[in-house]
Amino acid sequence: MDTDDLRKSYIEIVASVREYMEEQLRLGFLETELREPEKKLPYADFDLPNLTADAESCTKCPLHETRNSVVFGVGDTSADLMFIGEAPGADEDKQGEPFVGRAGQLLTQIIEAGMKLKRSDVYIANVLKCRPPGNRNPASDEVETCSPYLIRQIELIQPKVIVALGSFAAQMLLGTKTGITRLRGEFHDCQVAGLNFPPHKKPPVVMPTYHPAYLLRNPNAKRDVWEDIQQVMAFLTDG
Ligand code: SF4
Repeated sequence: MDTDDLRKSYIEIVASVREYMEEQLRLGFLETELREPEKKLPYADFDLPNLTADAESCTKCPLHETRNSVVFGVGDTSADLMFIGEAPGADEDKQGEPFVGRAGQLLTQIIEAGMKLKRSDVYIANVLKCRPPGNRNPASDEVETCSPYLIRQIELIQPKVIVALGSFAAQMLLGTKTGITRLRGEFHDCQVAGLNFPPHKKPPVVMPTYHPAYLLRNPNAKRDVWEDIQQVMAFLTDG
């Protein structure tokens, strides 16, 4: 065999090996071996106490300069149901607990009078852990910087359902720009990139609904929220 023949055979062998590998990959047999390993998110090895401690001293975005407290989250750390809002307001910033102002009292009513649960039976958190000054909307870079805390919180709590309160939470969890009016009323798969659930656990479904602060301004929307919450209750009972 001369050099040209050898080269030809070599090219044929490489081509057939590549074809074989691509077929195996397509069938899913070589997924773990050949695909790029997913990037580990920050805090992937943190437990809840470590994560809380890290957030409480966080200075990763400018909101740390104006906050009084880091509002990490509250409730049952193995709850099936998690409520996620946008960011702490003035009362939350003072008390260090999410949803304690007027909007928070309405959320507590929904949980206790509506769902017949205790507030302490669910877990409540926000996308941002520090208050944006003057209750302005969260900036996209603040959401990006802070969201790894929330992602790890979700991984550790492993809820079955997340109720996303308002556009910001819904859009962050669903990776969309669609508004809350179009998103609410039905369950969606959680689309948080890199969310890592153990293989025996289904990732949570997300029910977007109006934020309680919106309900204070638009009491007619309470009926819609109640419909959404009833779907959540049925899901938790059936599943
Ligand atoms: S909002 Fe989040 S990222 Fe910004 S300082 Fe607070 S904890 Fe850190």
